[in-house]
Amino acid sequence: MNIIFLGPPGAGKGTQSKRLEGRYGIAQISTGDMLRAEVAAGTEIGREAKGLMDAGKLIPDSVIVSMLESRIQQPDCAKGFILDGFPRTVAQAEALDDMLQRKNSKIDVVLVLNVDEEALADRISGRFSCSKCGTSYHDTFRPTAKPGVCDVCGSESFTRRPDDNRETVIARLASYRAETMPLLPYYEQHDLVVMIDGMAPIEEVSAQIDQVMKRIA
Ligand code: AMP
Repeated sequence: MNIIFLGPPGAGKGTQSKRLEGRYGIAQISTGDMLRAEVAAGTEIGREAKGLMDAGKLIPDSVIVSMLESRIQQPDCAKGFILDGFPRTVAQAEALDDMLQRKNSKIDVVLVLNVDEEALADRISGRFSCSKCGTSYHDTFRPTAKPGVCDVCGSESFTRRPDDNRETVIARLASYRAETMPLLPYYEQHDLVVMIDGMAPIEEVSAQIDQVMKRIA
């Protein structure tokens, strides 16, 4: 099963896609996480990507498409994958369709997380994650049970993304509107879009997604 999560930054794609990975045993792929790993490792891709990411701009299609193409060849993607943050342009979506066609595969559903833009800045500015296991938290909406300790692995080390600041978020939202929103009509044409109310509490959003999964499984 191949699933795409679409939605602006802060809509909850990461939280929901990681949850689905745990529940259905399908690989979750976040191109943003892959790029952050390249930056941390100081690779050539990472060095090129860093400036663009810090400015809230997209990495060129050719770079991201070849990164994704090698990722989906990995054995953990044999049963399918959940894409979080890819595709972000129509050119990426077309490249993905070509890749899947060559593997006799296809996208099964595109889950669109709908959120009010005014809510996004608050959601994004409080985000942090465990440096060890990557579990996502939020100062207000999803704090750790014990202050300063990860609920999942017990680590006491956390990170905040450098691009989760107000100025970069404005640029990221502009790029979402201009370059990623055109994906909606693209996937609607193929009758793949399911709208999810991303403003509901996390558990309700998860329940809406589970209903869709039941329908398509
Ligand atoms: P994300 O973690 O999905 O919010 O992505 C963080 C940043 O990584 C974005 O603001 C872009 O600079 C870059 N990025 C992630 N995925 C893509 C993609 N599919 N195409 C282009 N740039 C991307």
